Amino acid sequence: MNKLAQLDRQFVWHPFTQMRDWLQREPIVIAEGKGAVLRDVRGHEYLDANSSIWTNLHGHQHPKINAAIRRQLGKIAHSSALGLANEPASLLAGKLVEAANPRSRRHEEADWSKIQSSASSPRRLRKVFFSDDGSTALEVALKLAYEFTRRAGRNKQPAFLSLEGAYHGDTVGAVALGHIDLFHRSYSGLLFKTDKVMSPYCYRCPFNQAKPERADAREYRKCHWECIGKVERKFSAQRKKGNPYAAFVFEPLVQGAAGMIPQPPGWLRRATDIARAHGALLIADEVMTGFGRTGVAALVKARSDRHANLRFHKRGYSAIQFACHHEGLQPDFLCLAKGLTGGYLPMAATLTTQDIFNAFLGRYEEFKTFFHGHSYTANQLGAAAALASLDILQSPESVRARQGLERNLQEELQTLWALPNVGDIRQVGLMAGIELVKNWRTREPFGLRERAGIRVCEAMARCGVLTRPIGNVIVLMPPYCATRAQVRRMVAALGESVRTAFGQETR
Ligand code: PMP
Repeated sequence: MNKLAQLDRQFVWHPFTQMRDWLQREPIVIAEGKGAVLRDVRGHEYLDANSSIWTNLHGHQHPKINAAIRRQLGKIAHSSALGLANEPASLLAGKLVEAANPRSRRHEEADWSKIQSSASSPRRLRKVFFSDDGSTALEVALKLAYEFTRRAGRNKQPAFLSLEGAYHGDTVGAVALGHIDLFHRSYSGLLFKTDKVMSPYCYRCPFNQAKPERADAREYRKCHWECIGKVERKFSAQRKKGNPYAAFVFEPLVQGAAGMIPQPPGWLRRATDIARAHGALLIADEVMTGFGRTGVAALVKARSDRHANLRFHKRGYSAIQFACHHEGLQPDFLCLAKGLTGGYLPMAATLTTQDIFNAFLGRYEEFKTFFHGHSYTANQLGAAAALASLDILQSPESVRARQGLERNLQEELQTLWALPNVGDIRQVGLMAGIELVKNWRTREPFGLRERAGIRVCEAMARCGVLTRPIGNVIVLMPPYCATRAQVRRMVAALGESVRTAFGQETR
């Protein structure tokens, strides 16, 4: 066995991993990466089909991000944000505020009619609190929303509502917002109580009357938006108790760890309109969906040829970067991590409004200070990487590449409908979840003990494609630099592995 693999097995405890299984085989030890390719210590190459757990945007060893980190390293790697400012973090905060508040002039063709993010709007996200990871970005939002609600005299015991299947991280506050029993139940004694409301999972929705078809369940669903009725009733009931929800916490457009569950178009807007009407703050968790993952938006799709794209940029438009903006939604908190640094370094940001910020202002001795922070807050290397990543993201080349990737992924995924064990294929922009079932005609699921997703991913790794399942759902989330041929290989490996795992021929 490789020496590094031996050391790993001896000393390292891996996240979300049954270590008894891990210890039964030699792990893949990654030595290098370039673009969408990872290489292990034995020289085997793999496609990074989940962008290293949803973090990497532009590929590994991107020359511009590498250069930005090197330049920053020549100055300083880290100084504290407790009592000091620094160059890249200040610049980054400005850029994030700009990206998070697209002017309606820029997005005139998207649904911006209702957005309230003009320069004077209270909804404008103006302040950036840096932290380390997705979980900490959520902790910050949670604590700020809690304390703001109390200070504003709205409620002494602020209550929070999140979605069924919610996952917002693994620190204790973030776990309290979560509703995945498998991960969260054991720790219930440690947690404060939060409520959950039905989220739209069209493929397995009890209100969807449609028989299974060979298409994304959102497209052929037959329902009356009962899920939205549930949201309305949840908010009303809580208000009648005299304790209206302080905040509604959600992943916009698609819930990742819940099983790549997409919301049908319009759900986000309707649900958050209800929340607003009941006075709740909106906490958008864009840890997974942020930075272009949910697609470039119809606005850009309509101008698909090369020159039109350049014109698009000359006119001062920029592609939508956040899922919320696809539905013209401006939250009170925008939580970012993962792709913030292009997938290079752990760094997170929680953006919020002037109103929230103001509630923490006062004379020193009033102690209204937000007493929260981490050692590496606003780390310079992370901020330098993030600035370079944002620059790449906003370039016409990146917009074009992402349009192409979205199209390629969509076309390749169609080949999987031929497999009887593929029940649902749900793509949102540059990511997809493929739900495996025993029989597509009945939607009969595999039991968790059958390890269907794990078996398929193990077989994919043997074909040179790396990803991780969520239960019976296989995630494909290629880096934005992935070529057509690489996307084809990812999808082909998935198809082959499904056949290997379940021994069935295509129908
Ligand atoms: N929110 C969402 C939507 C996530 O997908 C994740 C991580 N998968 C988190 C929060 C937590 O982020 P982190 O692992 O960086 O703490």
